[in-house]
Amino acid sequence: MDNLNGLSPKEILKGYNGRKLRIMEVCGTHTHEIFRLGIRKILPESIELISGPGCPVCVTPVGYIDEACILALEKNCVICTFGDLIRVPGTEMSLADARGKGAQIKTVYSPLDAVDFAKENPHKQVVFLAVGFETTTPSACIAVEKARKDGLDNFSILCANKTMPNAYQALKGSADAFLFPGHVNAITGNATCKALSEQGVSGVVAGFTAKELLTALAVTVTLLQKGEPFFVNCYPRVVKDEGSPAAQKLMAKVMEPCDSEWRGLGVIKMSGMKLREEYADFDARKKYSLPEIKGKPNPACRCGDVLQGKCKPCDCKVFGKVCTPQHPVGACMVSGEGACSAYYQYGM
Ligand code: SF4
Repeated sequence: MDNLNGLSPKEILKGYNGRKLRIMEVCGTHTHEIFRLGIRKILPESIELISGPGCPVCVTPVGYIDEACILALEKNCVICTFGDLIRVPGTEMSLADARGKGAQIKTVYSPLDAVDFAKENPHKQVVFLAVGFETTTPSACIAVEKARKDGLDNFSILCANKTMPNAYQALKGSADAFLFPGHVNAITGNATCKALSEQGVSGVVAGFTAKELLTALAVTVTLLQKGEPFFVNCYPRVVKDEGSPAAQKLMAKVMEPCDSEWRGLGVIKMSGMKLREEYADFDARKKYSLPEIKGKPNPACRCGDVLQGKCKPCDCKVFGKVCTPQHPVGACMVSGEGACSAYYQYGM
């Protein structure tokens, strides 16, 4: 940041002695929208956009897929999940492979669909794969509350929910500024991002339209010139300072923080959510006494580096050759929010 002090917009647009501004799209949807809208093509070379860890499927570790396969194949559970997770490779197989071996894997569009399925099929044990950030965690909590209210004893969730504050700490120094994920801040509010700016980490909350994204980038570049850490909410039509108190209250009632493994980032202290003891009956790990599993990613896959902005998808040797959306080697090529799939789809 110090190198940027006093630069005029013209100097920034031209670049500064080879120094590029590195702006991290924390959210996978930002990565895809920026590509789709053609924004990368109109940015000067001196601005480098790097992808971050904000795709929930991408950061879910290999061991989680292994756990889901055990539940499906050895515990005879029906696995209900959002579609993207089905093709993510585990250590030995994906859920799609498990389906080929006879496992029941059902795509759902909401955790409540899984609760309804459990209600309609009382003789089947149903497990919902709960992944995602503060944006999706409330809906998993609603599902657990509903299952409890309806007295279901055949529904549980496999928790891999994550929270952003400590991930930002782990990402410190990886970019000059963050484009904070608008949908996460809509739930959490802005306190974490403001605190980060006090610690020297700059960023803006961005929305998802062309106008919102260009505004967020323009504000970021302009403020970086001043050399002072900053935080600006560039998505005020959706993000309020206090976030959503109702969603925060629900999450705090049903879940509690825990250490959590992130693909590529390892275990980050208190960066995950698990069900509270009062809801243990709905915790698939406890219900089925799952052993602790350490998954092994494919050694050729650089998803971990991609998720930390250490390399671009096209720097991975198997990108677009062995690894394609049809035959993904890593999670970042599977998910609709994954950086590798965005680079592949938009021809970078
Ligand atoms: S191109 Fe494929 S193998 Fe390489 S980092 Fe991306 S997902 Fe992993």
